[in-house]
Amino acid sequence: MIQKKKNGSPKGGSANPPALRVIPLGGMREIGKNMTVFEYGQDILIIDCGMGFPDDRTPGIDIIIPDFTYLRENRDRVRGILITHGHEDHIGALPWFLKEFDVPVYATPMAKKLIEMKLDNTRPKVSKKKLQQVRAGDTLNIGDFQIDFIHVNHSIADAVSIALTTPIGTVFYTGDFKVDYTPTTVDPIDLGKIAELGNNGILALISESTNAEVPGHSLSECEVGKAFKEIFSEAKGRIIVATFSSNVFRLQQVITAAEERGRKVLILGRSMLNVFEAAKSLGYLVYQPSTIIDMQSLDSLPPEEVVILATGSQGEPMSALSRLAFSEHRSTEIMEGDTVILSSSMIPGNEEAIFRVVNELFMKGAEVIHESLSEVHASGHACQDELKQIITLTRPHYFIPSHGEFRMLYRHAELASRMGIPHERIILLKNGDILEFREGGQAVFSGYTEGAGVLIDGSGMGDVDEYVLRDRLRLADEGVVSITIVIDEAANRLYGDPVVQAKGFIYESDMNHVITLCQDKVRDIAEELWEKKKPLVSHMTSEGVRDKIQKTLFDYSRRRPVIMVSVVRI
Ligand SMILES: [Zn+2]
Ligand SMILES: [Zn+2]
Repeated sequence: MIQKKKNGSPKGGSANPPALRVIPLGGMREIGKNMTVFEYGQDILIIDCGMGFPDDRTPGIDIIIPDFTYLRENRDRVRGILITHGHEDHIGALPWFLKEFDVPVYATPMAKKLIEMKLDNTRPKVSKKKLQQVRAGDTLNIGDFQIDFIHVNHSIADAVSIALTTPIGTVFYTGDFKVDYTPTTVDPIDLGKIAELGNNGILALISESTNAEVPGHSLSECEVGKAFKEIFSEAKGRIIVATFSSNVFRLQQVITAAEERGRKVLILGRSMLNVFEAAKSLGYLVYQPSTIIDMQSLDSLPPEEVVILATGSQGEPMSALSRLAFSEHRSTEIMEGDTVILSSSMIPGNEEAIFRVVNELFMKGAEVIHESLSEVHASGHACQDELKQIITLTRPHYFIPSHGEFRMLYRHAELASRMGIPHERIILLKNGDILEFREGGQAVFSGYTEGAGVLIDGSGMGDVDEYVLRDRLRLADEGVVSITIVIDEAANRLYGDPVVQAKGFIYESDMNHVITLCQDKVRDIAEELWEKKKPLVSHMTSEGVRDKIQKTLFDYSRRRPVIMVSVVRI
């Protein structure tokens, strides 16, 4: 059901009735940097502000954040930002966003805590004054938007879906979710509320696609508890569990299993300790105070009474688990008889790093248990059956798969199509697309904005431009050629031979030929200038020489090394 437009025209005085615009700035055709802009009339709301992580196309880059260009252009209409949950791909870019935009951030308790910790570590400091707490079940009214926060299950506490209702219709934004009927310490996802929204009519469903390729139903968190119980009952020595630090439910399961076997728990790794403290302050962790021990108490306990909860399930080199494995931790290391549980999935791209750690763990005499051996991990993302369930309950007019690489979005679109949503109402968006729902519910593409993201190198903001990146790729792939030219200014001639050096560009056997080629080219350029009576010092620029050498080397080798030219005058 498409709702009718309210009476009255937008404050801007535009003649056309306002449209509802949906503009993904991240999260489409990628996993990471989730950020979506919703615009109706004079009001802009944003859902999430995440960071993305580098891959092999962006060497040397620390993180990638969404491009805020569209928001800068419409700065005075941005009313606030709504956060679905506290994972980095949803909150990671907030420090950069808040440096530029002084707007309220609405977040559930756990997400708010994690954002506060993030802002505390941001230099220069970013104010936390604009952070506002909301809870699942809350409704907000901002401009012409009504906002409903709906409880969902996910691998972090306090994840919500968000329904945005405007005079044009309601958009249901799932955020990251799974359907868990036995999620240990919290309630199952609020399917009742989702069904109610569905009954009232959903114009568009924007649904996450991480596990859209995986058939069936995700494993329940409670099954992980059972697996822990079994492993804990059999382990003779210490137990070391590595997991994502933000998964409070998993931390609780480890602590509970430890208490049942009379074991104490040591928490290792800064991010794990931070999340532990945050969750504790919110009352999300239940345990006997004596269960949690510090490093000093570790040595006084026999191995069969110890559990270590550690960061590093992705093989991160500086993490607690890696340091234990490689004996780099100042206080303890892996020993014979330890049982190590990797309670997490392997994020694609991290396999090599993880196996490096696993090999080391085996070599030190530990038993290693991971996802493929036992149900020690449950994904936080809906599989096909759950995705279908949400489509069934919401019965959307338009379907927009999000939060996934293109193959995932494609599979998700296929699912929706098989469930009867016609092709013309399934929309595969790109970051930066401007999708407009007009009065009556018709959807049209009305333009696009910058959607590629901004690369962050070190702690600066966008200080690595594409050229730097291209140079890095070329240095890695094509090598470097450096040329030093000395000009005798008085004689208007080259002084001696140009000095040419090459690294990683060409095989040794070809090297002399390449050097000769470059020297000849430089001499040709100088000769030509001399004949035209043009002063070399002003006409023989390093850029000019570089371009000509580039062409010469490309003609010879079909490759484009990075070329560095220095011109010295005497
Ligand atoms: Zn998430
Ligand atoms: Zn996510």
